[in-house]
Amino acid sequence: MSYQALYRVWRPQRFADLVGQQIVSTTLKNAIITKKISHAYLFAGPRGTGKTSAAKIFAKAVNCHHQQDGEPCNQCEICRAITAGQLNDVIEIDAASNNGVEQIRDIRDKVKYAPTQADYKVYIIDEVHMLSTGAFNALLKTLEEPPANVIFILATTEPHKIPLTIISRVQRFDFRRISAKDAFARMKYILDQKQVAYQEDALRVIANAAEGGMRDALSILDQALSFGEEQVTMEDALLVTGSVTKQLVREYFLQVADGDSAMALKTLTKIIGAGKDGQRFIEDLISFIRDVLLYQESPDLIDLPTTGFVKEDFEQLKNAATPMALYQMIDTLNDIQQEMRFTTHPDVYLEVLTVQLCQVRESRTDQEELDQLRQTVVSLQQEVTKLRQAPTVVEKKVMPPKPSRTNNKQALRINLVQINTILEHATRPDLEDLKELWGDILSLLDNAQGSLINISEPVAASPAGVVVSFDNNFLFEQANGGNLSDAMGAALQRLTGTERQVVFVPKDKWPQIRQDFLIEKGYLKNGGKKEAPKKSDDPVISQAEKLFGADAIEIHND
Ligand SMILES: [Zn+2]
Repeated sequence: MSYQALYRVWRPQRFADLVGQQIVSTTLKNAIITKKISHAYLFAGPRGTGKTSAAKIFAKAVNCHHQQDGEPCNQCEICRAITAGQLNDVIEIDAASNNGVEQIRDIRDKVKYAPTQADYKVYIIDEVHMLSTGAFNALLKTLEEPPANVIFILATTEPHKIPLTIISRVQRFDFRRISAKDAFARMKYILDQKQVAYQEDALRVIANAAEGGMRDALSILDQALSFGEEQVTMEDALLVTGSVTKQLVREYFLQVADGDSAMALKTLTKIIGAGKDGQRFIEDLISFIRDVLLYQESPDLIDLPTTGFVKEDFEQLKNAATPMALYQMIDTLNDIQQEMRFTTHPDVYLEVLTVQLCQVRESRTDQEELDQLRQTVVSLQQEVTKLRQAPTVVEKKVMPPKPSRTNNKQALRINLVQINTILEHATRPDLEDLKELWGDILSLLDNAQGSLINISEPVAASPAGVVVSFDNNFLFEQANGGNLSDAMGAALQRLTGTERQVVFVPKDKWPQIRQDFLIEKGYLKNGGKKEAPKKSDDPVISQAEKLFGADAIEIHND
């Protein structure tokens, strides 16, 4: 016997089996008990919430001569024929199929004939919003003068697409999304009946992944079962619900928390390779780190199954980094998320990010850091007190306030003295030479530093120094914060034999810095922007050109 999908085999046959639709079930049962049957019903709701199942149960209950409390007996000939889809008086039409219109026209012709075996003829029209205008009109005619003993049940996921003329002639029922709790209970019931072993957490993961559709939940469960072992494990559940990248995110987190940038960069490549969007990855990582933070506060603060991880995972994760480090990671992630919006090189940002996250671990012990720590401890203590007093906060996953950032975030630390010293002696050939060497410098730096260099360029050079610009303030900060300038100086010395001072500058600040320097030295008059240079033999212009090259001059014209 070929395998039958769970959702088919376990299609509800009684209102009592219909998951998560108590109001609908009760109302329909009451209609049957009190024999107050309408001519037309509209079952509206998301896919997989039991609309067509409810329609068939209703068709049975209304025709079954042994119904009890509004439930069909499912034993009699009529019930069994309807279940098998073999009763001529219950007609199922899929409006999404090509012959939808034809079938509706067919209804008009045949609707007047009395049912042959059952008491009521029941038309179940699925995806009714797909009907053409012509078909709707045909249907409307029938609904306007419904023959006796005919019931229409229209099912749709998109009720707003149905003409009001139709809506006004039907009794409407709204089917709700199945809660994860209900889906869990139903899967548990089915597996218990089938005597299949399972891990409860696995079912919770599936219930959450199904997002309100019982049919989806059972399809996922089917897939998990298809891994063969005749039992549902957490591992399988994570695999089929696409939580594999979640495991990679976890791996990545452990690596950056450990300061292992080489491994973290490898994992990053895997994550990107799995088709993960950069922004999405950062969002996932932020919510993941928040979960770890909450778990550190108290394991009760997170709803474990929704995270896609098990308790053992979190027990390991909670010791991976201090709350302070986690806050810093979230800060870094937030910063880079902003920056990444406009870039065409998200991969570069993610590499920089990875390195930056790895550096979070290196603890700095200056006074500023200690002050920040104290402040964090105080705010955490306050937050814990608050959380204990108001347990409802837990559900919203409200984060404790961030410790205040260091102020130098606002004011970029640009070393103007050093830059001006280099500019004093800057020459164009020096700059040209360095530009040619740039690729070689890259090869002398480690991965982390290399990814930063990738998005930098030398903009001025003297025999003793070089000014390097970075695409934006964030990258500039990253470069300034580490020991990149020393590493580059060392690389330059190896390549050129001379020691050079390396100074960084954010790209957008560079034109102003350069112009200020030229004005101060009398090479450019104040307001020189308007007096656009015309010829390159102008002594002022040629001086500027000597320093930075012809392309630099043009910037003053805009
Ligand atoms: Zn029956």
